[in-house]
Order: sequence, then structure tokens, then C-alpha cells
Amino acid sequence: MSAIAAPFALMAELTHRCPLQCPYCSNPLELLKAGAERDTAFWMAVIDEAAAMGVLQIHFSGGEPTLRGDLAALIAHATAKGLYANLITSAVLLDEARLRMLEAAGLAHVQISFQGAAAAKADRIGNFRGGHEKKISVARLVTALGMSLTVNAVVHRQNLAELPAMIDLAVALEADRLEVAHVQYHGWGLRNRAALMPTREQFAAADAIVAERRAALGARLAIDYVVPDYYAQAPKTCMGGWGQKTLNIAPDGRVLPCHAAETIPGLVFERAGETALAEIWYRGAAFNAFRGTAWMQEPCSSCALKAVDFGGCRCQALALAGDASATDPVCHLSPLHEEILEMAEGESRAGVEEFVYRRV
Ligand code: SF4
Ligand code: SF4
Repeated sequence: MSAIAAPFALMAELTHRCPLQCPYCSNPLELLKAGAERDTAFWMAVIDEAAAMGVLQIHFSGGEPTLRGDLAALIAHATAKGLYANLITSAVLLDEARLRMLEAAGLAHVQISFQGAAAAKADRIGNFRGGHEKKISVARLVTALGMSLTVNAVVHRQNLAELPAMIDLAVALEADRLEVAHVQYHGWGLRNRAALMPTREQFAAADAIVAERRAALGARLAIDYVVPDYYAQAPKTCMGGWGQKTLNIAPDGRVLPCHAAETIPGLVFERAGETALAEIWYRGAAFNAFRGTAWMQEPCSSCALKAVDFGGCRCQALALAGDASATDPVCHLSPLHEEILEMAEGESRAGVEEFVYRRV
């Protein structure tokens, strides 16, 4: 069809509803209500189109995807089409009977988010009493049923002191993988940035802890580490490059290059079911807006790394530089880099503790 490769993964955001209210949730500030969600037939058709395009993985996400009564049917359909099915969940609504049903439907992998290592603090961060203990019991069931488990530990200034204990928790739960992810400042994370931004000292300490525990644990636990953007020297290759690897479908059926792309003014997102998924991926204006390197400005346009990191994150460039086609200010070559570092350090010491919790 073209030189553009087929997408590798589909992120299916089935709903924005969630019993938790994490102050760093990547969902947009304007959350979609249940009435805006698409039905089972819509998602079945999306899965058919994705499989026909060559998509290999489907991530059922949200919000909290287990709020959807059709989750098992969607997983069964995806696996029947040859897709590897992953569930990204807070876990608080799962029990053994439901997990068995999902496993029987073909669910291969479960990613459970943890807000901390100790119940009181974790439950305050997610604003859901009893959540932490429930997550632990569900994580044990996941491994007992033979599914792969990833523990997703989102870290920030208010829980970084618990990082060693969070690593211990992942080991105790016999997780295959631990993702230590510093908050990404999009959506609610951007809204709560002052309450979440780590200090530079915390960042340095976290780096050292991850390096030390990786060496000590070896193959026993794979640890992925997402550094805090604002203290980085180089930007991450956001989404593996815009329109390079992943399709994101919002609960109302809009197809996005990433979950935060709707913050970029001027982009129009087509809907699955109205336009063919392959048409949106290969020829859609939003997917081609920042695909490749031709759209770049200096310093990216003459940089040797432009086809490696693709200039970083477009949504972050918009949020920090006011221009979605600017170099991500996280990059040390951006003229805004020092200003952003100073701003981050200032916010990390401003003493803001209260969270603004998300609400539908
Ligand atoms: S980040 Fe928290 S609030 Fe947002 S969907 Fe996940 S569990 Fe729910
Ligand atoms: S200048 Fe652009 S391409 Fe080069 S490292 Fe920075 S963000 Fe990446």
C-alpha cells in the first residue's frame, strides 16, 4: 500500500470511567461519559480491521476496561483473530471468577497499576479506599492462573521514597516485569504537575536504585524505567514515533496517534466505523501531520538523531513551547531546555501537596 509500516499495536480505550482518580491519569481533562462509549459491535469490527491490517497486539485500556461487560467477548474475538491480548487495569473490580473468564477468553497478559507500596499512601493517591490490598490479591490470582503479570508503578515526588519497597512488592508478587514510570505530564498529570514533580535529588536517587536492583535481580525481574521527562537530557521516542507503531482509539471511536493528541489544535481525528482504519492510518491527515521527519524545525531538522527520537513528544512540545512542531523542550538542544529545568526544580520545591482528582 505504501512505505509506511503497518501498526504493531492497537490501544483500545474502551471507557474513560474508572473507580480510581489518579492525579496523573493520562485521560483528557474532559472525560467522556458512558453514553459516548461505542458498543460491542463497533469494537468487534475494529478488531477485524486491525487484524486485517497486521496489528499484532491489542491493549484493552481505559479508564477501567473491566467496567465493560463485553470485555471477555472482545478478548475472545481478538485472540481468535490472532492478536496478543493485554489488559491494562487498576484491578480493583476483578475477582477470581471474572479473571478465570478473561483467561478462558484468551487473555495472555495483565498489567496492574500500583500507586505505592503501602496501603494508606497508595489509597490516598488513587483516592480509592481498600484499593491497594485488592490489587495485591488480584495480582496473586493473575500469576496463579498462569497469565503474565506486569506491575506498573507510577512514581512521583509523593511516593518515590517507597521505590525500593515497590520493587520488593513486584518481586513478592512474582511479576514478570516491573515498569517504573515517572509521571508523564499530560492530561491530569499536567494539571497536578506541581504536586507530582520530583526533586532533582529524588531523580538521581531513583536512577541509582533502579540500576542497583536491576543488577541484583537479573533475570528474576525485568525492570523497565521511564525517566522523568523534565530532568532528561534527551527526549523519549514518544509512541515509537508518531504514526509509526501504535493506533489509539478513544471510547467514542476517534482514532488518535497517541492518547494526548487531542490537545493539539487543528488536528481532526477520524472515527473508526466511518472511515476504514487502514485509510486513517496510512492516509489520514492527523497520522501524517508529524509522521517521519519532514515537518521538523531546527534544531531537529539537521540533527543526527532525528530519525531515532523523532524530535520527542509533540504534545509536550505544545504544552511547554506552545508549538506542536517545535523540538521537545526536554531535549538539551532545545532553546527552552534550561528554562524547563529551572521550572521543574522550582515546582518540586514549592510545597504543593494537594491533588486535583479526576471526575467524569
Ligand atoms: S490512571 Fe488511575 S484513574 Fe486513570 S484510568 Fe488508570 S487507574 Fe483509572
Ligand atoms: S534536536 Fe530534535 S532530533 Fe535532535 S536530539 Fe533533540 S529532539 Fe532529538
